[in-house]
Amino acid sequence: MATKIVLKSGKEQSIRRYHPWIFSGAIKMIYGVPLEGDIVTVFDNNDDFLAVGHYQPGSIAVRILSFEDIEPDIEFFRSRIKNAIEFRRSLGLIDNKSVNVFRLIHAEGDNLPGLIADFYNGVIVMQMHSVGMYRIRKEITEILAELMGKSITAIYDKSESTIPFKAGIDAKNEFLFGDSGPVVVTENGFKFKIDWTTGQKTGFFIDQRENRKLLNDFTKGRSVLNMFGYTGGFSVYAMKDAGLVHSVDSSASATALADENVILNFGEDSRHRSFQVDAFEFMNDIRNKYDLIILDPPAFAKHNNVLGNALQGYKRLNMKAIEQIKPGGIIFTFSCSQVVTRENFRKSVFAAAANTGRNVRILHQMSQPPDHPVNIYHPESEYLKGLVLYVE
Ligand code: SAH
Repeated sequence: MATKIVLKSGKEQSIRRYHPWIFSGAIKMIYGVPLEGDIVTVFDNNDDFLAVGHYQPGSIAVRILSFEDIEPDIEFFRSRIKNAIEFRRSLGLIDNKSVNVFRLIHAEGDNLPGLIADFYNGVIVMQMHSVGMYRIRKEITEILAELMGKSITAIYDKSESTIPFKAGIDAKNEFLFGDSGPVVVTENGFKFKIDWTTGQKTGFFIDQRENRKLLNDFTKGRSVLNMFGYTGGFSVYAMKDAGLVHSVDSSASATALADENVILNFGEDSRHRSFQVDAFEFMNDIRNKYDLIILDPPAFAKHNNVLGNALQGYKRLNMKAIEQIKPGGIIFTFSCSQVVTRENFRKSVFAAAANTGRNVRILHQMSQPPDHPVNIYHPESEYLKGLVLYVE
């Protein structure tokens, strides 16, 4: 029998609107002592059934798997995973020659909270964010191997750093199926080397695929500055027809990867140069040097309590770009902080523009691609937002 959890009166409201998280502060009573990752059933204060999910001691106490009174057995997970795969197939992402890098399972966005799986040209890299998912990683691997069949050669579990409350679990990064060294993937015809063992997240920022494609509408003949460039995703696209491309990142391994990826696509090309330096320092003196600037910083706020600082950070960064870009310049500016809403981000950029006094227009509003779907009941799933600005 699953452990029963009863919520405080009123705290059931968000759950009745299908929000998939129960915060520890909403809990009135836990009957028994559930272990990390146990399946628990959740009731309202009148003992009416609400949901079933994975338990986790911490701020998010339950990640809801179903709002129906069912037993989430392996068949349940198989069916959810199958849905996720079929959805990618319907998007044309599976067996696609020009894009073989995409997100296969996007946690809450695929009704599988705690589970991320990315596809890199035949290798799946998984990251579990809950002990509940981690505990069934072998079963998930078997399901993925069975459903993906010949499309995959290996499945790697990279949960060591994402599993909370590690005590007693001793998660380690390892292959759970097959084996593979780094692979080269193709994204919209461009090539990238992916090394999931050393890279950030699962190895690549797949979520920028559509925005990188949009970039090519603006790159022709321009002088491009790619701030926070990481693997050089935006730089490689820009190299297609830009006059000059500079990639900036504070990490030496990131600038090395950006160089490697540019060479992979264009050979040695003097139009590209990487700089390993702090972004704010680099941007102290770039007046009239660039007419296309990409600002894709790491999440400035991981928690609500530092939201104010994060918004100041976005304002400061955007101000540096807006005040110094050449007249007629284009800025691609992003925020990937979950706690920063689209409105808040836009206000920060507005404040930055207003401080410079320059005439700024919004040409595009950007988001995450459909393989990172937003669960409408879970606004936090919409983490990536961006603006394309025209600065007169
Ligand atoms: N635009 C990239 C993803 C950027 S991730 C892409 O499309 O793949 C954020 C990057 O910012 C990381 O590579 C990190 O090393 C770098 N970074 C973090 N803080 C920085 C700083 N203060 N100055 C420069 N780079 C920084």
